[in-house]
Amino acid sequence: MIIVMEPGATSEEQQAVIARLEREGFKVHLSRGIERTIIGAIGDKTRLRAETLAALPGVEKVVPILQPYKLAGRDFHPEDTLVPVGELTIGGHQVHIIAGPCAVESREQLLETAMAVREAGATMLRGGAYKPRSSPYSFQGLAAKGLEFLAEAREVTGLPVVTEIMDPALVTAVAQVADVLQIGSRNMQNFALLQAVGRTQKPVLLKRGLSATIEEWLLAAEYILTEGNSQVILCERGIRTFETYTRNTLDLSAVPAVKHLSHLPVIVDPSHGTGRKFMVAPMARAALAAGADGLMIEVHPNPQEALSDGPQSLTPEQFARLVQEIRPIIAASSRELGHLVS
Ligand code: PEP
Ligand code: MN
Repeated sequence: MIIVMEPGATSEEQQAVIARLEREGFKVHLSRGIERTIIGAIGDKTRLRAETLAALPGVEKVVPILQPYKLAGRDFHPEDTLVPVGELTIGGHQVHIIAGPCAVESREQLLETAMAVREAGATMLRGGAYKPRSSPYSFQGLAAKGLEFLAEAREVTGLPVVTEIMDPALVTAVAQVADVLQIGSRNMQNFALLQAVGRTQKPVLLKRGLSATIEEWLLAAEYILTEGNSQVILCERGIRTFETYTRNTLDLSAVPAVKHLSHLPVIVDPSHGTGRKFMVAPMARAALAAGADGLMIEVHPNPQEALSDGPQSLTPEQFARLVQEIRPIIAASSRELGHLVS
């Protein structure tokens, strides 16, 4: 349930409510808004009646949380969540672009791409060191070496690094390098992995599963939030439908749906969403028009030679053009393209 505190409630009153809830075995989550504080309590409702709580000093009202995703839902947290990544903020006034290769293939490939995307306007660098490939015979990523190159690319460009994690046992190693931990589509319901990243204090980019409903996606976010990590960024990357022309069907209706249901920021990946490079820029523009907080775009210095996802990867020049093309859309929605200060 949700305990809405009065606007003028004191911190002693708040503490008294929390202490009472914890005594009855409830897990407590605080959401401090500008106007008032909301206390989310998850536990056995038969242990403590809503009327009892409503009578405590400073409590305005007690309401049940009807959404199945208690912490990810707007019921509990009406205001948008802002996720800080270094000096950047995801989910606010600024739109951010994460760009880079599908996979880290070599030091040169990564550094060249990182410098080019930074120059063109990206504010974060992507690149998989551990790759979830459909075939065990495909390139699996450079693993620890890939992490090293990502760290160097950040050093050189100042771009925070987003990279995928596939194994709970590697959380510490990946979190040492990554500024944002990416959970890929195929792992959206790997609950042990979700809990493991939930126990870190690193922002998590949670991609929508290939066949996940919006409710399943938000429940996956809930696994991370219940462990204490509130920094979740959702990423729509297309879902499987009967359509075969595109690699996936990019569900842009998920953007306003998720914004309506949840306070978490949502970005869109039109590269995996379409699988075809000529469709990436139009769908990037559409995503921002639909209200996305950012984009994730695959860029490769030589897409024909890419070890993964070449057909959907843009050249640095094509990426630079895309950035120019989204500017009017961002301006039309009274936002601005994010930039690094340093
Ligand atoms: C990726 O970002 O390279 C990736 C594997 O994405 P997804 O999990 O969306 O397929
Ligand atoms: Mn990819």
